[in-house]
Amino acid sequence: MTVFMNIINKEIPADIIYEDDICMAFLDVNPSAPTHVLLIPKKPIKKLSDASPDDQAILGHLMVKVGEITRKLGCEDAFRIVINNGKDAQQTVFHLHLHILADRPFHWPPG
Ligand code: AMP
Repeated sequence: MTVFMNIINKEIPADIIYEDDICMAFLDVNPSAPTHVLLIPKKPIKKLSDASPDDQAILGHLMVKVGEITRKLGCEDAFRIVINNGKDAQQTVFHLHLHILADRPFHWPPG
């Protein structure tokens, strides 16, 4: 079980900014930008590449919630979504999560 399941189960604290039956969004404890939110499904999908066709509605739900959450944060016009998939892509918590980063300059290509 990952630390994100502990957050979902309210066993450890987090700054939760959004929650519904399918997903939860909370502040990253070690932010990489002035605004850094993690958006996770409540279903413990280990990584994006493990998602199955059964997870299509969950993944769509997350994508739609990005707009709602960024509007709530006032950063809907400029943000970056990052999903690290796998150890060599710097994934450290093996529970699918979208990083929502905003309020700093971004460069392309990403590092
Ligand atoms: P990743 O490297 O893509 O797996 O991202 C994992 C993210 O989870 C990192 O940005 C961490 O700072 C963040 N993180 C780890 N533990 C916690 C926690 N207890 N509360 C909030 N964010 C966390």
